[in-house]
Amino acid sequence: MLSVQEATARILAAFSPLGSEVVALDRALDRALAKPVVARLDHPPQAVSAMDGYAVRAADVAALPARLKVTQSIAAGALPTRAVGRGESARIGTGSAVPEGADCIVIQENTTRDGDVVSVVDGAHVTGKHIRPAGNDFQRGQVGVEAGRRLAPSDIGLAAAMNWPWLEVVRKPRVAIISTGNELAHPGEDLAPGQIVASNGIALAAFVTTCGGDAMHLGIARDEPKALAALIDAAAGADLLLTSGGASVGEHDLVQGVLKSKGMELDFWKIAMRPGKPLMFGTLGPTRVIGLPGNPVSALVTAALFVGPAIARMLGLREVGPRVVRARLGCDLPANDQRQDYLRAAVVAGADGLVATPFGKQDSAMLTALSRSGGLVIRPPHSPAVKAGENVEMVLLG
Ligand code: AMP
Ligand code: MG
Repeated sequence: MLSVQEATARILAAFSPLGSEVVALDRALDRALAKPVVARLDHPPQAVSAMDGYAVRAADVAALPARLKVTQSIAAGALPTRAVGRGESARIGTGSAVPEGADCIVIQENTTRDGDVVSVVDGAHVTGKHIRPAGNDFQRGQVGVEAGRRLAPSDIGLAAAMNWPWLEVVRKPRVAIISTGNELAHPGEDLAPGQIVASNGIALAAFVTTCGGDAMHLGIARDEPKALAALIDAAAGADLLLTSGGASVGEHDLVQGVLKSKGMELDFWKIAMRPGKPLMFGTLGPTRVIGLPGNPVSALVTAALFVGPAIARMLGLREVGPRVVRARLGCDLPANDQRQDYLRAAVVAGADGLVATPFGKQDSAMLTALSRSGGLVIRPPHSPAVKAGENVEMVLLG
């Protein structure tokens, strides 16, 4: 059996960034940026006021109160019509261009107005106060967002401010998903005796979507080679094929055999971990194949550890995950055996960081516990027993 580290390295080595495509800015949220966003202009384009008030010469308001003539009013988007001379001021709004001659903004709250005269009655005024210089936020040619980042709403806003109507992003990896098992019925179906609802396909598709992939659940294959082969054929053209179930050593576990008969080259099968031991990895033509275990918790935990990073690699992301953080244990744990454990844990924010308390039942079929988990406490092979309060590493979920 491979260690988790070795399995991760072998999987990551098999993936590389896909090509790019150009999308409209309003379709770019959550996409992986392929080329840096570079400013096409300076922002702000000229010095502007940061407040509503009066543009003045700082020297004129060094001693208070000071009376100044108001010679113009500058609305947002309009340009000043004249310079501010000695003893003069300009009414100005937030974001309006600062006129020549003025070097300071007096906020409206520190003034009283009488006709075309403003009295500055309060405040300390120095050169540059409440003025945003030209290019204060960014300057033409400056990089706003680096390639290899998933675009957040603030990145979209910055790209728009930098005057880009579209962006070059990495194309979404096509991820085909096949569920296997005679006992499975689609969610919502009338269940025959002995049947269970197939939750993996829909959960894995959701996971792939959150990772930035284009998920396609091809359906449920009965445990017979022909049915499985048909769905494997349907996956042609995918960058990644995920199978769920049929990955162990039972007589109905056909996935590996059928994939091999289709020409898959096996890279490895079985990882020294719990949950998720029977994970399989191989290559079928242009498609990488990750055979996930059937137990719902095992399927999603191994997806978080291996599928997420594989998709991140295809997207050219700088951070491939999973995100591992330190946490304090909320309870004692016994020593570990030769497999690396990922314990589903309730996670709360404590006074000095996260506190993770693994659930008493760690059944790999119990989705309820996974759904309530904020993280997976990592127990490396042969870890000694640990006490509550000690530090552990944890995969952060969600
Ligand atoms: P297998 O590896 O096919 O033996 O599956 C292991 C366990 O996971 C069995 O109890 C299956 O019934 C269950 N299982 C397999 N596929 C799914 C699925 N898509 N959704 C929920 N449970 C599944
Ligand atoms: Mg099965």
